Amino acid sequence: MLSGRDFVWQTSIHQIDGLSEFANTILSSDTASVEFLRNGETVFLNSRLIENVGWRLIVEQTTDSVHEPIYMTLLGNIFVTLLLTAIVLIFAHLILKNYQSRLENLATHDALTGALNRRAFDVVLEQTLAEAKRKKDEPFTIAILDIDHFKAVNDTFGHLIGDEVLKDLVACTKDRIRESDVFCRWGGEEFMLLLQNCDITAAQTLVEDIRQIIESQMFEYQGKKVQITVSAGLSQFDQTMNRDTLIKTADEMLYRAKASGRNRVMPTSKAA
Ligand code: GH3
Ligand code: MG
Ligand code: MG
Repeated sequence: MLSGRDFVWQTSIHQIDGLSEFANTILSSDTASVEFLRNGETVFLNSRLIENVGWRLIVEQTTDSVHEPIYMTLLGNIFVTLLLTAIVLIFAHLILKNYQSRLENLATHDALTGALNRRAFDVVLEQTLAEAKRKKDEPFTIAILDIDHFKAVNDTFGHLIGDEVLKDLVACTKDRIRESDVFCRWGGEEFMLLLQNCDITAAQTLVEDIRQIIESQMFEYQGKKVQITVSAGLSQFDQTMNRDTLIKTADEMLYRAKASGRNRVMPTSKAA
């Protein structure tokens, strides 16, 4: 009898669990194939008589030992496939998220200065107007800032230095305002500031501060020193206003600031 190391043969196949009931069938035929249960496992058994020596070759195999390697390979494959799928999905998700935020950024920000663009500002302004109409006691103010004689800056130093000035002005202003304040490039060398929870007096103090910071700032590019000033017009929302009249009032105030000598902040005449 030949067997694996762990297999213990009984002296007679009549004494082997499960096989005993087929012992007679096996011993009385030249070949036999039987299937029986042992310890809850299905066992397949084949027997063949080798006539020349009068031996019987009996081979048995359990379902587990047949299927286990296949089963383990299958599990391994499923695991690797799931792992690869998860990795690919995570990468795809991260790449898409990155693209999405870049697209969002492109759609809502000015490419040169990184300030919000007009489209994004309009959305915030509409929301703020709707809120202000509901909560009547929360003031908000807008300010339009315009660089004085910016055309002369371009003419003197060139358009590229003009661009740098615009970028630095945005950086200076962002440093001074709060996170909740909304700062946008309204167009060209004009900027719009939306100050939530802020009345005209507080807005005037803040914008005057910004004006002074810009006035005292010495911008330097390729050894060329550039100084600029800004004028600003302010307008505090009141319940009689809509988007257009609010902006028109700030525009009129800006015009007055320019007309009265530039480099100044002009609040709405009502509160001034
Ligand atoms: P004012 O004090 O009356 O505002 O005079 P100003 O020269 O600033 O105003 P004007 O409207 O005559 O000229 C605006 C200038 O701003 C002209 C334009 O070339 C310049 N400008 C607008 N957008 C940009 C930009 O993106 N880059 C640069 N370098 N210049 C710009
Ligand atoms: Mg200007
Ligand atoms: Mg202008």
